Amino acid sequence: MLQQLSLLDGPVEPIGGDAQGIRIRASRRARRLTLKVVPPYQIELVVPHGTPPRDVEAFVSESRDWIQRTRRELDRRYPTTMKRLPERIELVAIGATYDVVTRVRPSAEARLTTSPGQLLLTVADERDSAGFECLRQWLLAQGRAILRPWLLNEAAAMGVEPERVQIRTQRTRWGSCSERGVVSLNAASLLLAAPVARYLLIHELCHLVHLNHSARYWRLVGRYDPDYRDHDKNLSESWSQIPVWALPR
Ligand SMILES: [Zn+2]
Repeated sequence: MLQQLSLLDGPVEPIGGDAQGIRIRASRRARRLTLKVVPPYQIELVVPHGTPPRDVEAFVSESRDWIQRTRRELDRRYPTTMKRLPERIELVAIGATYDVVTRVRPSAEARLTTSPGQLLLTVADERDSAGFECLRQWLLAQGRAILRPWLLNEAAAMGVEPERVQIRTQRTRWGSCSERGVVSLNAASLLLAAPVARYLLIHELCHLVHLNHSARYWRLVGRYDPDYRDHDKNLSESWSQIPVWALPR
């Protein structure tokens, strides 16, 4: 499995609002209150089930210095342009570029209409997440149309067959391969250079043969992608470049 930073262990449930820009997640597994950074922009507070609200408030208030310091650091690393609606989207992997034209119509329901080379986005408010969600859904559809056949093509060439292919917009990983042979790919991989996106497909398909990162596994990867080391490094580094609109809320 190709995993980025921490794996989340449950759905995100806002239980206390995000007055300080903190995402709050209730967890059955967690034993204590924890603050951490979840990729790529957010501070997350993990709250064990049944924690009294006053304990949560006290913890947040004690951690104020850490939160402010971390927020400044995140703002420095991720400029606001990455958090805004894009003016252009480039699906680098397939060499397709789309101009995004945003129309603000107060009280309009967010919607996206597409024409060759252009995405017309209608939103009530540019800061609202509805516009981001439209783009994410569009990316998912592109992923299903492009990544699925691409993966099956590579699989056929390698002589392997996934049980099922899922295209999603995971918040913590580029892809995964389950014990049952289900391959999941992040639709945001369309934003990567083609050889790097192809490496991701090869990486997951090789897990159908070896469900580990053993020497034998990497030899197999190397047979289909001799430059896999560079591509793997590039893939890890690209995580911080994923725009906010391509991530689930
Ligand atoms: Zn892996």
